[in-house]
Amino acid sequence: MTTPPWRGGAGSTRARCVLAPNPGPMTLDGTNTWVLREPGSARTVVVDPGPLDDRHLTAVARLARAEDGRADAVLLTHSHLDHAEGAVELARRLDVPVLAPGPGGRLHDGQVMDIGGLTVEVVATPGHTSDSVSFLVPADGALLTGDTVLGRGTTVVAWPDGALASYLESLELIAARTGDGTVATILPGHGPVVGDPAAWLRFYLDHRHERLAQVRQAVADGAADARAVVETVYAEVPRELWDAAELSVRAQLEYLGA
Ligand SMILES: [Zn+2]
Repeated sequence: MTTPPWRGGAGSTRARCVLAPNPGPMTLDGTNTWVLREPGSARTVVVDPGPLDDRHLTAVARLARAEDGRADAVLLTHSHLDHAEGAVELARRLDVPVLAPGPGGRLHDGQVMDIGGLTVEVVATPGHTSDSVSFLVPADGALLTGDTVLGRGTTVVAWPDGALASYLESLELIAARTGDGTVATILPGHGPVVGDPAAWLRFYLDHRHERLAQVRQAVADGAADARAVVETVYAEVPRELWDAAELSVRAQLEYLGA
């Protein structure tokens, strides 16, 4: 599946993306740093500052403060460094707190924030990591999914912290929210905006169940360990991604009770 390169910019009425300069096999075009703002409001919030990169953080801070804007907080979808490394430095520059999920964090499922008239709701979507959350912007029907759903390709269940059972539940939850009209757009942590999230979630769920069937078959055919399963099931995937694939395989073996 080929899609044009993604360079950031407008994601929805209330969300703009500053693309971080960290492209790679796992980060796709780079990390998407989102700045949210209610039209006409001076208040902003930053989601996933990305890597500790001076030029990137400068561009993000400029956008967060554009037109006499003032940031309220830096939010994190999860703690992986390609999303979170620059958080403390950006928060220092903007003089705001970092609000993160997980133990000791200050975000929890169902939490509703008001940023100068902009409503943002925390939706727990564990699986990629145990602490992963998404952020719903109801006024745009937009869901910021971090690494739970990407704009192209599929993501990794980062075993042992990530777990497939909770990941599948999170995908089902997001799929249900596309079905009932709550989510019309996905603003992912990497890759382009997803304009047809219902179809994309169907692909994600089908892909997971296909992989599970393949892993089950590989084990039945005698694959002795996770690496052997990777070599069979992920044979067509570039070798530089095999270590990541092995984490997903371990998550799948755990799920299957193998
Ligand atoms: Zn991640």
